[in-house]
Amino acid sequence: MSNKPMPLATAISAPFWDGLKHGRILLQQCNACQHWIFYPRRHCSSCLSHDLSWKQVSGAGTLYTYTVARVPTLPEFASAEPQILAVVELDEGVRMNTTLVGLDPEQIEVGMRLKPVRATVNADGAVLLRYTGVDVPLEERDEVVRAPEAPAAESGPPKRKIDVKDIDALKALVTGEFSDWSNQVLVDQELINQFAELSGDSYWIHTDPERARKESPFGGTIAHGALVQVLMSRMQVPLSFEVTGFTNMVNYGSERLRFPSPVPAGSLVHSRTRVKSVEVLPRGTQMVLECNIHVVGQERPAVINDLVILYM
Ligand SMILES: [Zn+2]
Repeated sequence: MSNKPMPLATAISAPFWDGLKHGRILLQQCNACQHWIFYPRRHCSSCLSHDLSWKQVSGAGTLYTYTVARVPTLPEFASAEPQILAVVELDEGVRMNTTLVGLDPEQIEVGMRLKPVRATVNADGAVLLRYTGVDVPLEERDEVVRAPEAPAAESGPPKRKIDVKDIDALKALVTGEFSDWSNQVLVDQELINQFAELSGDSYWIHTDPERARKESPFGGTIAHGALVQVLMSRMQVPLSFEVTGFTNMVNYGSERLRFPSPVPAGSLVHSRTRVKSVEVLPRGTQMVLECNIHVVGQERPAVINDLVILYM
């Protein structure tokens, strides 16, 4: 389940949304003066007549104006793909706010011909109208956020084995560079609710989407920091090495744990890691791994965890 705002059909606009669900684009037309009307209204915006009918149109139109939102307009819209907000002028003359899909920003020009794309945005089958270039082979798209498959336990490139007694080799792993990204994990409302029940932390900012939409500074519910932190276990970070030759390996805790940015419900997260330090201590050989979890597409981490691993 995604936490993105969904269209709320009113008595007046319901035919438009129902039409989209069934593959048809419907606009109101005034029976008195033939003027086309959008957004849906009770009366004609030209002659004020109340005698309006819903009519099916092709949806074809021309790009009136657009902007590329490189910073997400809401945290829910953070993803690898920038949002391209546009106003399309349909051939009937009405203008519609929409987003452009399947086009790179440099392919876009004001005045270009566009065609509609039906985008299914949630599991209930809600459809939004997006637009793309007439030459782009795209009529429909599925934008329902689903949990990606977890990778097989032993996937990825073969790892270099390093004996725990080879301190020089271990110290050579220390780097300022992060690994590649792990697999992605979906943090949806259902998972947040399960964690609320398990931990006893059912504060509304995590569990009440309706209240959070109105009152939360994040515009919706967010995951518990501790939940996102433990999801690290579901993420396989492609490390290039494997430490061998120890009798016992202990998770000794954390040297630093921070939650610098929120994870809105419905986000995909992934993580990356670097070896921050290696030290030989009386209690064993200690490796600190900086494990950072990010919402996919976000520069700023959601979790920074300097994890301490002790090899004995
Ligand atoms: Zn009219």
